[in-house]
Amino acid sequence: MSFDIERARAQTPGCTERIHFNACGAALMPTPVVDALKQHIDLEARMGGYEAADAAAQQTESTYSAIARMLGCHSNEIAVVENATRGWDMVFYAMPFKRGDRILTCTAEYGSNYIAYLQMARRTGAIIEAIPDDDRGQVDVDALRELIDEHVKLISITHVPTNGGLVNPAAEIGALARQHGIPFLLDACQSAGQMPLDVSELQVDMLSATSRKFLRGPRGMGFVYVREAMIERLEPPFLDNHAATWISRSAFHVREDARRFENWECNVAAKIALGVAVDYALDWGLEAIEARVTALADALRARLDALGGVRVRDRGRRRCGIVSFTVADEAPERVVRALCERGIHASVSRVTSTRLDMQGRGLDALVRAGVHYYNTEEEVERFVAALDDIMRGN
Ligand SMILES: *Cc1c(COP(=O)(O)O)cnc(C)c1O
Repeated sequence: MSFDIERARAQTPGCTERIHFNACGAALMPTPVVDALKQHIDLEARMGGYEAADAAAQQTESTYSAIARMLGCHSNEIAVVENATRGWDMVFYAMPFKRGDRILTCTAEYGSNYIAYLQMARRTGAIIEAIPDDDRGQVDVDALRELIDEHVKLISITHVPTNGGLVNPAAEIGALARQHGIPFLLDACQSAGQMPLDVSELQVDMLSATSRKFLRGPRGMGFVYVREAMIERLEPPFLDNHAATWISRSAFHVREDARRFENWECNVAAKIALGVAVDYALDWGLEAIEARVTALADALRARLDALGGVRVRDRGRRRCGIVSFTVADEAPERVVRALCERGIHASVSRVTSTRLDMQGRGLDALVRAGVHYYNTEEEVERFVAALDDIMRGN
């Protein structure tokens, strides 16, 4: 598959100055996204925020249809919120748990989600259980099958963890969940924008994602998908004038679509720009993006493996654009700082973000490099050469 890398880089201003391997933190925005942001802010400056929002109402609506196209769902099943966590929270905290209910999650679960389980368990007596991994470090679907009984009220996992290249077998998990009528919530923060996500194929009931990572959208935006049949079963933990209507002194009516999980005030420029980012990704094609991202990440893993003293830490059968590693006798923080001094961006992922996984592997922190399609093989070489240089004490 040929990829017009020149066009991708020409439309990515950040490419020229730095080697940005931090798409899993916040990717570089492409020019059309930056332009959309700036244009709406200019409009607000000229017209005022409310008037600008009215004038751009159609563009805001396009964001819903773009996300729906990407996920293979309807626009009314999408809520656009300020980040992925808040979208995830709005559906998770809407679920009624009672003592003895079981929540099944994965060892790669994201910290914020796990904190919510702990709070819910403390409040209600629900039980949190991690599905064991198979020998490759991904969710063991056979083990999940064994765990399922009538007390399981939610299966909630992270698709691609924040700390590595693993891609959990979400579609197989979704098939099991659907077969048993158990709601399935997928944290797709790190997978959105780097691989195709189809809600029918994944058989998810709820899915959350963020704008700024592999989707290359602006910061401060996220969204959540809720399958139509689930929406009316989930009353959001917070309601406002947008999520509900005050219809009499003592009554309100919660809206019927997924926008019941939103709140009224939002960053309109970022909301429009998120839609532009999604369309931009669809334009490249998510299969093509995944092929290129995976090839770059595999190349980086191979080159790192060949460096003595570096240990690649990615798990799973299917791997994606996040490459995690540790360096013998070097703290990840120091490695990332030294890379940054050389104009190369990676990040540190700590035990507090994915405690079950990291603690299980005896890891406190690791270096995380997230490559995107605008990166090049030459940048991979320069990354590895810089790391080699750092390890030699230069
Ligand atoms: C980054 C991340 C989140 C949080 O996304 P926000 O938009 O910052 O709320 C959730 N889950 C995973 C796996 C992540 O990597």
